[in-house]
Amino acid sequence: MEIKKDHLNFAVGPVPMEESLMALGAEPIPYFRTADFSALMKENERLMKQFVHAEEGARVAFLTGSGTAAMEASVAGLFSKNDRLLIVNGGSFGHRFCEICDVHGIPYEAIGLSVGESLKPEHLAPYEGGDFTGFLVNMGETSTGVLYDMPMIADFCRRNHLSLVVDAISTFLADEIDMAALGADVVLTGSQKALAVAPGVSVVVLSPRAVEKIYASKPVCYYLDLKAALVNGERGQTPFTPAVGILIQLNKRLCDIEAEGFENALAKTRAVAEDFRCRIAKYPFVLATDSPSNAVTPLTPKNPDLSAYRLFEILKEEFDIIICPNGGDLKDKLFRVGHIGHHTIKDNDILFEALDALVARGVIS
Ligand SMILES: *Cc1c(COP(=O)(O)O)cnc(C)c1O
Repeated sequence: MEIKKDHLNFAVGPVPMEESLMALGAEPIPYFRTADFSALMKENERLMKQFVHAEEGARVAFLTGSGTAAMEASVAGLFSKNDRLLIVNGGSFGHRFCEICDVHGIPYEAIGLSVGESLKPEHLAPYEGGDFTGFLVNMGETSTGVLYDMPMIADFCRRNHLSLVVDAISTFLADEIDMAALGADVVLTGSQKALAVAPGVSVVVLSPRAVEKIYASKPVCYYLDLKAALVNGERGQTPFTPAVGILIQLNKRLCDIEAEGFENALAKTRAVAEDFRCRIAKYPFVLATDSPSNAVTPLTPKNPDLSAYRLFEILKEEFDIIICPNGGDLKDKLFRVGHIGHHTIKDNDILFEALDALVARGVIS
């Protein structure tokens, strides 16, 4: 069966890929227990550390699995039933951290936020001086498009001696992240978000403290054991057959970013997001948060009779344009437009042409 190709994809992963990266995906897969592949993996590690501003002595594990594999590997690898975690739960990805802790029997307290709400000092105040040991946050809660105040969270963690785990899966390369300045122990990302290659590889950057802890502890997962990943990574290898083709694509992408300059790559995403937000302001939608990530813009139709999901369907069926629908209670109320991946302002032009056609027909009002 063939799936029809979308003309334009504004989903938040998988995202549009550059031609040269797609072409790499069509290449034969090389044997990987070789010095060449090890060198490529070492380069991947060096560049990931550089781009998140990791401390000296930080390490990177590349896991074969989507972003959730990185979330589970780090939570299960660093914490146990003797810990007590704080989790920011502002949407489906915050909720996912809670579910991972449930499965692994790790005690936690969730800070629940409403849709689009940002985290403020008063949300953290009740937990000041508590007996918590770790803090899990999705820097960008992709399901609602909210970017959390990371410096505020980092200060709270420092004051309260909490190990900070940052899920930057959708925000890496969209919003500035400085792992060393935040004092974070873990930063996560995945191949199919702003790295804009095929889905299937997730990245776990670990501080020297986290590396030490992982090396000293017994594994609770076999396949997602970070110690095995780090030990093998010392020689540029992985414990099992990795997604070799995606790691090769990732290498080209990381090298391209280095050549372009990381700040320039980041600025590109920001420019596409700002262009979109500036132009969408005159349409009858409300920006669904006051603290948006550059990765994605969450929007609610002002007209209660216009279903967000119906808009997704019309754009897909009539224009071959994918915007990102929401599920559950938010299905009719919220849709999202992603800005990560190989997007340009020209892509925004095409989306606005489609929106204008729908305004002219009275579908959007
Ligand atoms: C996409 C994403 C994930 C991981 O989702 P997968 O489907 O497992 O790749 C985790 N957290 C955030 C914030 C994300 O945007």
